[in-house]
Amino acid sequence: MKTLKKCDFKGKKALIRVDFNVPLNEQMIVTDTSRIEAAKPTVQAVLKGGGSAVLMSHLGRPKGKEERYSLSHIRGEVERIMEVPVHFVPDCIGDEVRHAVENLPDGEILLLENLRFYPGEKAGDEDFARRLAQWGDIYVNDAFGTAHRAHASTSVIARFFERKCFGLLMEKELKNIEKALYQAMPPVVAILGGAKVSSKIGVIEHLLDRVNHLIIGGAMSFTFIKARGGEIGDSLYEADKIDLALHIMEQAEAKGVKLHLPMDVIAGDSLSANAQVRQYQANSIPDGWMGLDIGPKTQIAYSFVIMQAQTIIWNGPMGVFEIPAFAGGTMEIAQAVADATREGAYSLVGGGDSVAAVKKMGFARKVSYVSTGGGAMLEALEGKMLPGVEAIENS
Ligand code: AMP
Repeated sequence: MKTLKKCDFKGKKALIRVDFNVPLNEQMIVTDTSRIEAAKPTVQAVLKGGGSAVLMSHLGRPKGKEERYSLSHIRGEVERIMEVPVHFVPDCIGDEVRHAVENLPDGEILLLENLRFYPGEKAGDEDFARRLAQWGDIYVNDAFGTAHRAHASTSVIARFFERKCFGLLMEKELKNIEKALYQAMPPVVAILGGAKVSSKIGVIEHLLDRVNHLIIGGAMSFTFIKARGGEIGDSLYEADKIDLALHIMEQAEAKGVKLHLPMDVIAGDSLSANAQVRQYQANSIPDGWMGLDIGPKTQIAYSFVIMQAQTIIWNGPMGVFEIPAFAGGTMEIAQAVADATREGAYSLVGGGDSVAAVKKMGFARKVSYVSTGGGAMLEALEGKMLPGVEAIENS
């Protein structure tokens, strides 16, 4: 792996693609700084190595140059977190940037304007990438969150650099994927939840070749239960994915993977915080009720399987964790993953709402690794080579 440690930054300008796509409130104040903090080790390593850092990122989905998506709003927060002067230019290409880059002293940071103010970024435009590439001697990609995009700054740009490497966050993410998927200690348990089978089909297919147990929760379990002839009441399911669910169950059996489905559910008479709540067998939910969380028997059974694991991969919540009445199943699973981790198992949580759930419930430090990239982690779990990784590894 082309890591930061192998690069000499002394007197050099590192052009670092970071993921500063942070949430801002109405007053343009950053409400969650974790992505900026996640880039700090890489930026610090460059500065301590005697270089300077030119940071580039996107923010939101601007349609052209929309002021509310300007990275000027986050400059102060970046400076506070990085603890060194952070200069800002209101563009990412052109003479003003050239002047700022030329005058950037070692040990300091230059933050460029939102890359997505130019359509060339998302289009992966080669000319735009070439123009960006002028701003550094060494290209560092530390934006795991956008590593699954073949954009100008995440992928195309790498071809203009002789010296290029992964940042420390990217390295950490890739090593954890490697550990969970390709060097996993058995028994390997994958826990999949969330809303739809259709959005996780690639993940399921890839994991079936790598795991011993596949635990299914969330609304996606109802497509499987329905496929088996169960009564699921008004629970969310995908009618056009019934055959797919049957096929997955057959594949699991053929590959010797134990597929676990909920036995009981916590159901509500509506998807709302003031719903009436009842427990039902997962395959006999009456009309007018929808399964919104895994039930207590299922929680115990799933926790038991998780406790036997040496490797755990978790993607997607077990229920509607945003509503307290339906958060208990996800909480119990988080507890089991934390307990198994304490007993020596390796656990990776990533790729969607399970990350939000684990953070919200205070388990982030009790699992081995919580990924910072939603879509990127999902694609990695599908076994896909990420364009941002390929651009550095295979050139
Ligand atoms: P995903 O993005 O596919 O991981 O789905 C996450 C979403 O699935 C969360 O917003 C959950 O509230 C939702 N979800 C999980 N279980 C259920 C369920 N049984 N019924 C409806 N929505 C659910």
